Order: sequence, then C-alpha cells, then structure tokens
Amino acid sequence: MAAQETVEHKYVYDFAEGNKDLKDLLGGKGANLAEMTNLGLPVPPGFTITTEACKAYLSTGSEPEGLAGQIEAHLESLERAMGKRLGDPEDPLLVSVRSGAKFSMPGMMETVLNVGLNDRSVVGLSAQAGRNDRFAWDSYRRLIQMFGKTVCDVPGEEFEHALDDAKRAKGTENDLDLDADDLRGLVDAYKKIFAKHTGREFPQEPREQLDLAIRAVFESWNADRAVLYRRQERIPADLGTAVNVVAMVFGNLGPDSGTGVAFTRDPGSGAQGIYGDYLANAQGEDVVAGIRNTVPLQELERMDKTSYDQLLSFMARLEEHYKDLCDIEFTIERGKLWMLQTRVGKRTAAAAFVIAGQLVDEGLIDLDEALHRVNGAQLAQLMFPRFQLDHEFQPVAKGIGASPGAASGKVVFTSARAVELAAEGESVILVRRETNPDDLNGMIAAKGILTSRGGKTSHAAVVARGMGKTCVSGADEIDVNVPGRTFTVGGQTVREGDVVSIDGTTGKVYLGEVPVMPSEVVQYFEGSLDPEHIDNALVRAVHRIMTHADGKRRLAVRTNADTGADAARARRFGAEGIGLCRTEHMFLGDRRELVERLILARSEAERNAALAALLPLQRADFVEIFREMDGLPVTVRLIDPPLHEFLPPLEQLAVNVAVAQERGEDVAKEEALLAAVRRMHEENPMLGLRGVRLGLVIPGLFAMQVRAITEAAVECVRGGTVAKPEIMVPLVGAVQELETVRAEAEKIIAEVVGDSGVEVLIGTMIEVPRAALTAGQIAEAAQFFSFGTNDLTQMAWGFSRDDVEGAFFWRYLELGIFGISPFESIDRDGVGRLVRIAAEEGRAARPELKLGVCGEHGGDPDSVHFFHEVGLDYVSCSPFRVPVARLEAGRAAVETGGSDSR
Ligand code: ADP
Ligand code: MG
Ligand code: MG
Repeated sequence: MAAQETVEHKYVYDFAEGNKDLKDLLGGKGANLAEMTNLGLPVPPGFTITTEACKAYLSTGSEPEGLAGQIEAHLESLERAMGKRLGDPEDPLLVSVRSGAKFSMPGMMETVLNVGLNDRSVVGLSAQAGRNDRFAWDSYRRLIQMFGKTVCDVPGEEFEHALDDAKRAKGTENDLDLDADDLRGLVDAYKKIFAKHTGREFPQEPREQLDLAIRAVFESWNADRAVLYRRQERIPADLGTAVNVVAMVFGNLGPDSGTGVAFTRDPGSGAQGIYGDYLANAQGEDVVAGIRNTVPLQELERMDKTSYDQLLSFMARLEEHYKDLCDIEFTIERGKLWMLQTRVGKRTAAAAFVIAGQLVDEGLIDLDEALHRVNGAQLAQLMFPRFQLDHEFQPVAKGIGASPGAASGKVVFTSARAVELAAEGESVILVRRETNPDDLNGMIAAKGILTSRGGKTSHAAVVARGMGKTCVSGADEIDVNVPGRTFTVGGQTVREGDVVSIDGTTGKVYLGEVPVMPSEVVQYFEGSLDPEHIDNALVRAVHRIMTHADGKRRLAVRTNADTGADAARARRFGAEGIGLCRTEHMFLGDRRELVERLILARSEAERNAALAALLPLQRADFVEIFREMDGLPVTVRLIDPPLHEFLPPLEQLAVNVAVAQERGEDVAKEEALLAAVRRMHEENPMLGLRGVRLGLVIPGLFAMQVRAITEAAVECVRGGTVAKPEIMVPLVGAVQELETVRAEAEKIIAEVVGDSGVEVLIGTMIEVPRAALTAGQIAEAAQFFSFGTNDLTQMAWGFSRDDVEGAFFWRYLELGIFGISPFESIDRDGVGRLVRIAAEEGRAARPELKLGVCGEHGGDPDSVHFFHEVGLDYVSCSPFRVPVARLEAGRAAVETGGSDSR
C-alpha cells in the first residue's frame, strides 16, 4: 500500500498524517481533526480525501486515477483499527461522511451519519449494542433521511412529515417515545419516500453508499447556493472541498450517551467560563436541529463527572494550543468521550476585543497578534448605540443584519406613508417584502428598513448601507401584507402605526420600543470613560489595542470636518488634522442671498460687493476651525459644487414668478433668478461647471476664499494659535488649471501673510482620471495631493453614485460583478490603479509631495490597508470613522512588517 501511494498522486490522508496548517489540502474540518489526533485527544479514527481529489473530479466528471484504490486501502486500515468491517451484517463498522472546505460555506452538502447500515447490518448493530433494537432502527432511519436529503435531493420535509406522523400516531411530541417497532415502521415509510423521489431503492451495498456520499460532497461544491456565496464573499471558485470519513461513535445508545457543543470562552462577551449545550441520548445533528431541549453544559458534571472533567481538560489544552477561542463538537458513547470537531470559534465584536486582551494577559499572544485578531468592522459595530435588552424583550423574528444600528419606530408599509409620518416628526420603520427603486423616498424618510426577503446584497441592504441607515433584511418569519397594512409574525398581527425595533447588527426584530443605550466604546473615545478606572473589560481591551495600533501605524489619520464642532469631536476621537474641510456650507442659510447677488451681478462692482460681504463670514468660520485644530494641519477645499445648487429649484421659481405676476407685483428679481437658473441648467451637473472651473470662470470667487483662509490663519497666529492651512483646489484635470489658480492665490497669500510667519500650502484633489494620469505634471504645481476617491470612483466607472446605488447595484452584487460596492471599499484594480499611478508619478516629480485621501474610503478597513501599501501619508474620514482608520492603519503596519517610524 505505501509503495503504491508514493508513485501515484496522494489523494487520501489518514488523520495521523495531517495537521492544522494543511487547510488548503484537507479543508478546515480535516486539518483540525488531524491536529487533535496528533495532540493525543480521542478522535474516532478516519481519513480525509483531499481538495485536490475534488478538483480533479470536478474538472473531469469522474474520480481521478488511483482515488478508488487509496480509499479502499484507507478503509481497510480503518477496519483493522476498529476490528469491524463496513456494513458487516454481524458487527458493522459505520462511518460518517462529512464535507469540509477551507472556509465553511452555506449551501454545501453537510454530513451523512451511519453510512454502512442496511436491512441486514441493522440487526447486527442491534445485537452488538446489547439487543438495543431501538437504537439500531433509530440510526437506520437517520441514515435514510440524511442520505436521501443530502445525497439524492429528496425534499427533507417529506421525512419530517413522516416522523411527525409517527409521533402523532403514538400520541407524543418526543422522538424518544418512539420504540423499536415504531422506528422500523418509519424506516419503511422513509424507504418509500426515497424510492418515490429517486426512482430506485435505497442502496443496500455499504461501499456504494460510501462512494455516492463522497461524490455528492464533491458535487455540492458547485451547488447554486455555494457558488453564489463564494462570489459574494470573494472566495476563489477553484478551492474545492475535502471529504472526511470518520468511524461513527454513538450518542444515542442510552442515557449514559449523548452529544454536545462547547466553547472555551463565551463567544458573546468573551468572558471566561464554561459555555455549551448538551443533549443526552442523541446523535450530533439533534443539538443544532433543536429537536429536544438541550441542557447547559455545566449539568454534564452531575450526569457524568469523569467525561465532564476530561472535556474541560481537553478544552484547556486546545485553547492553549490554538492560542484562541475554540469551539468543539463532542459525543459521549456509554461514558467514553470522543472529540468530533474543533475550530477557532466565531465570536461577536465585543468578544473579539475582550478575548484578544485576555490572551495577551495570559501570555499566549503578543500585542501585534492581538491587533491582528480584531478589525475595524468590529470596532465600527461597537460604536453604534445598542438596544438595552432585558428579559422583557424577546425577538419575534431574526433576519440578516444588513446595515448596522439600532432603530425603533412606527411601522409603515409604503414609501408615501413613511414620508408623511416622518414629516410629522415621527420615527418610522419601513416594512416591505422587498424594496425597489420606487421605495427610495420612504427609505430616506425612515429610521430603519425591515424586509422579509433578500440577503446582504438585496436592494434594501445595499441602499441602506449606502445611506448609513439601519436595515434588517430577509426576516422570513414575517409575513407582510402591504394592501392590508399589517404583518404577522409568530401568530401576532402588527398594524401600521404599531412600534417595532430592529437591530441591524444581529438581524433581530422586536415588538415595541426597546430602549437604546449609548456605546461605551464611544464614551471612552470621547473621554467620558477612563479605562484605567472602570471595571469594563471591553473598554480596557479597546484602549490597550488602540494604543498599540497608534504606536505601530505609519499612516496619519485626519478627519473630514466642516465646522468647529465636528473638528472638536474628531480631535477627541484621535484625528491628527483635517483632511477635508468643505466650504460649501458657508454659502448656505442666510448667506444664500449673498450668493444670489453674486450670481446675478451685472457689473464688476456688484460682484465685488457680494464677495466682500461673504469674506468676513467665511473668515470667521475658518478662525473657529483653526482654533479647534490648534497645531494641526487643516486642508480647506475651495468651493466645489455647481453654483445653481445654491439657487431655488426651477419649478418653484416659475410658480413664484407666475403668482407674483398675477398679483401685479414687481417680479424683476424673480425673473432674473429664473433666467439665471435656466441659463445655468446642466444636463450632467456632475460633469459641468464646478470645482476649479468655477474658480476660473467667476472672477474673484477663489480669491475671496484664499483671502478668508489666510486672514483667518494670520488672526489665529497673532492670537497664539498655531494655524496650518492647506488650500486644496478641487476637480483639477490639467496642470494649467492649477497653475492659473495658484499664481493668483500666491499673490494674495504673500500680501496677507506679511511677517506673521503663517505658511500656506497649495495643493489639489486628484479626483478626475486625467489628473491621476498626468500626476507627474500636476505635481510640479502642487505641494500636496488628496485623492477624492468618491469622484474618482464615479468618473473611473462612469456612473453617479446617487443614480446607481438604487437602480442596479443590487443586481451587480448578485451577479458578482463586484463583491462589494466600489463606493464602500476601493476598487483596487481600477480606481486603485489610478491612485497608485498618481502617487508614484507625483512623488517622482516632487519627492516631498504630501499624499492623502479624503473620500469615504479613508474610513473603510480594506481601503486603509490599500492606502498603506501605496504609501500615502494620511487618510481622512468622517469623525466617527477616525478610530476605525487608526486601528486599521495599525493593523496594516503590523501585517506588512512596517514599524513605528512615525
Ligand atoms: P457540520 O459542519 O454541519 O457541523 P459535521 O460534519 O460536523 O457537520 O456533522 C454533523 C453532526 O454529526 C455534528 O454534530 C457531528 O458532531 C456529528 N458527527 C459527525 N461525524 C460523527 C461521527 N463519526 N460519530 C458521531 N457523530 C458524528
Ligand atoms: Mg460540525
Ligand atoms: Mg469631488
């Protein structure tokens, strides 16, 4: 056997031959079974068929050369080890056939237990179990059920209905009340169901059962749901799955047997202790299937102290070995404990931080590793307010947490009603079966969105995330009746106007208003919770890990802030400057009138008068911001949007004019405005007269802003504040644009600065693809670049965010054209390439060029890693995202081996 295997390709590994680092070849489950075997833990013997065998099978449609022989050889040695033969009528060896890819994947075939049972070996099994007919027939009916469902696609409900019928006939709800005869009858019923759906009898030959099950696992790799899931999660399509064949151990042999799951720490909070569930006299899948009520794992101590103590010692062993939270599946067969699975366990965001902190305390990992084990998405989750849940509130449904947050409000079923009630100041939750582009206004008006259909990439989910609005999608227990303005859930009817609460992180839905409590993590960032002096494991862990991230990161983190208040908050969150201060809000409110005067000016004198009136107002705004950012750089963007955005809409003006004319009033001003709006109308405002183009067309506009910024800086410096203004010109596509603006600006700056010592940098946004491609030229005129990745994404793809998110993104995501919206996370291949080109060519032309990013991507975890790799100096993001960017910048530095060179 050994000699044969060395010449042909090795497709089958005994558990003793593998280890935890072979996940690519053996899948997660197989690699960890091997690891436990080699640690000396009691794992039932078995073997793993590799992902390579699966790939070979899928590419040719048949088992690769040599596989059958290797399975035969490993099965024989398994039979020798167990002293039984597969399906032997006297004393059968039974096995489970378990799929196990590198990443666990919904939609893949799961597991078939009890392979090897047939009409004859069921008798032998009973005899070996001490004439336990009940056990033997129970095992057999499970095999037909699982085999039928997962290998032959027989609808699972049919088996469940037959089981329900048997229980009803017996007058019981508990499957344990079914005796051997009942179960024998059930096997007959199951066989009929099997034959009806497959057109053949249930296979009696044990090897055929095994081979069909293995083949079904291979093929499940390409099941529709699995393919879709991989596309959306960006899991490569060519990994394949491994198959594990494991000798059966039996938890359904009587009250001294059972099965359970355990966690080495609480996956909810991270707290140390014993967490798990146990079910006596049951086989594995019963625990998750919720057929009977499990008991807390602690109760096992009373039921079987030896196994309990042993389990605890194995758990400690595994945790020390994996240096992380492990989850475990085990079975006890007549007082003997068997380990059936382990893996590094999933956990909540809070538990991730707490556990990472604990493991550092315990000396199992260092702080770099702790940083690696948490992420910005988790931190962002912890910064949302949470529902304060006591026993009073039980969820009535659970869907998919599609967009995080906690929202309560009155139920509405139509977009129109949402808009109406919101206008009256009510909080509303828009409830739909699914949403479509017609619901957009309602979604904007609502506090949260709840749908009964659709996943993370449904229209509702994509649009809600784009708007930063709480959303639960696919809560399928909810039955929505839009015409009747009600939904039902668990037998209750909820009417329009009733209050519900939805948790966009957990996907849970509650009736009534659940009180919301603020995030402790935000309180900590704001400085109102002192991590050294409070007993809060989460806050302490966050503090410790953030401190480490700050020490490691190379990227600086700035914020996008337009007001002094935003700037102050962001500074508390750790912002090291402002990367984007938009000036357009400084033209709104009661200043609109000045903008109108500017636009309608018929002479240079009129225009200059309007600008002169705006100047002191803007200067005051900048003074406030510079004061808040004392000592830190502040990048101010000159006015960017098209000016007609500051004028009333066309229809409104037309009505005003008509009404005023009717009354015989003087309409000269309205008519002039109307004419201006008509004149300035653009088919594609996004591509129209905006950004630097405005500055070049409207004399004095940029000059006024440059003067306001510089005068504010000088005023601050004279008052003892350190102001570091950086003037940023938007939408530049050609160096000549920037040169023209810069020449004028430099004259004003020189004149205003005088001997104050103020230094003003002039740079540009890189947001037009042409700018990225001619960055070498533009850098000659720019002291810094800031990538405006929102516009750069829009212009690189040729679509506008406002139009596409609601219209077709859900479809693109469904098709896997992109795995995530390019507005959420930077498109490395396209937009990212423009960034890379501009960074490299800009730096080549001007080595001291400062590089930053100020689009929303500056706060997106994956994008931050990209910006680190490309070598930018800083990212800038909204105040709330600043901690996320700090954390991810630290992780990026640690992961690429960068150091604390700052
Ligand atoms: P999943 O990945 O869905 O958990 P598993 O392959 O782990 O699928 O198996 C499903 C259930 O069957 C689990 O509870 C597991 O512990 C149990 N099981 C699997 N193999 C065996 C075996 N050889 N003996 C007893 N129980 C088993
Ligand atoms: Mg499992
Ligand atoms: Mg822009």
